[in-house]
Amino acid sequence: MSQERILIIEDEARIAQFVERGLIYEGYRVTVARDGQTGLNAARDNPPDLVILDWMLPGLDGLEVCKRLRAAGNVPIMMLTAKDDIKDRVIGLDAGADDYLVKPFSIDELMARVRSLLRRVTPQSRPEVLRFADLTLDTGTHRAHRGERAIDLTAKEYELLELFMRNPRQVMTRDVIFDRVWGYDFGGESNIIEVYVRYLRQKTEQGDEPRLIHTVRGVGYVLREE
Ligand code: CA
Repeated sequence: MSQERILIIEDEARIAQFVERGLIYEGYRVTVARDGQTGLNAARDNPPDLVILDWMLPGLDGLEVCKRLRAAGNVPIMMLTAKDDIKDRVIGLDAGADDYLVKPFSIDELMARVRSLLRRVTPQSRPEVLRFADLTLDTGTHRAHRGERAIDLTAKEYELLELFMRNPRQVMTRDVIFDRVWGYDFGGESNIIEVYVRYLRQKTEQGDEPRLIHTVRGVGYVLREE
């Protein structure tokens, strides 16, 4: 039985209760906060393994809470939103969210995404260091290095980079990336992969470091040397 701690920050009692019951049924330990500041305090006092964060909150809104959580650490953050709009998704991703769930959602969909996000905090049986060119990725600590330079990764950035590092010089199609990193299909119009590849490039290609993650137009991406 899982004992991961999940913090729900949601002001709508009906939704908070629906999510809380589902998570408790699956064996998670759950804390509910009804506004952003209370949620931030709860996360600081008792660090959760995952945060489920509503976008529309009284006082501090979900985006602001997301930014502050992200500034404090790398806890996986899933945002709940009624805004099913790609632009809003990107704003949330830029604020540091790892995933999205658009209301209304089913409890099964929520659980699938929670499991996917929590995979990174589940202890690995045998941590290893993956290497490609001057890039390394430690599957135990989830930290990357380019040469001597340490790189902090969020949950989804880590999973995406791990997929590339385990399949060097092989083209990863969008379908494969969706399936392996997100565990479900966002729909053809989603640009979430492009957004995350951009984040990874920003982190792994600083100064005159040569590009490692290359675009294969119309197909996907490949980790290779130039
Ligand atoms: Ca709300």
